[in-house]
Amino acid sequence: METSKPIYSKVDPPEGYSSPGLFATSFDKVIGLARSNSIWPLPFATSCCGIEFMATMGAHYDLGRFGAERLSFSPRQADLLMVMGTIAKKMGPVVQQVYEQMAEPRWVIAVGACASSGGIFDTYSVLQGIDRIVPVDVYVPGCPPRPEQIIDGFMRIQDLVAHEPLRRRYSDEYREVLIKYGILKKQ
Ligand code: SF4
Repeated sequence: METSKPIYSKVDPPEGYSSPGLFATSFDKVIGLARSNSIWPLPFATSCCGIEFMATMGAHYDLGRFGAERLSFSPRQADLLMVMGTIAKKMGPVVQQVYEQMAEPRWVIAVGACASSGGIFDTYSVLQGIDRIVPVDVYVPGCPPRPEQIIDGFMRIQDLVAHEPLRRRYSDEYREVLIKYGILKKQ
């Protein structure tokens, strides 16, 4: 008789101590496990890379397998800003405002050459990489990147989220990054 395969996969438990009927780990590892498997992305798609993202969300590639099927078009309910496409300098303040409206903790992926570095558009009007206006956690190369590459970038974010110490967002180093970008005021 043919045995059916499970249609879901379980995530691995975090590091910890186990014995029959007992599993103990630290609080930040549990939070990291939950957060990394329930990321709500905000897609900021301006051009062709956005089309690749649509394929990434479709049934074949199915980003929902990673717990990220719930896209958020409100920055206030989003964890991950995904910038996909050419960002004109005039649009820069809008991207920064969207980032500022996201609650902490928040992460950013620059998807494709345009978002990462301006791509082929080395012109006066195009921002030469979104890291000039917001801090970026992961860069996905390609023009355009294939859905597999976008998924790989997403999995790198999951890794960062799972291992981020809970206190990182309160650290002086993180404050300094936000001050450098003009997102926090120096006191
Ligand atoms: S990186 Fe290439 S595919 Fe992506 S938005 Fe720029 S020109 Fe289009």
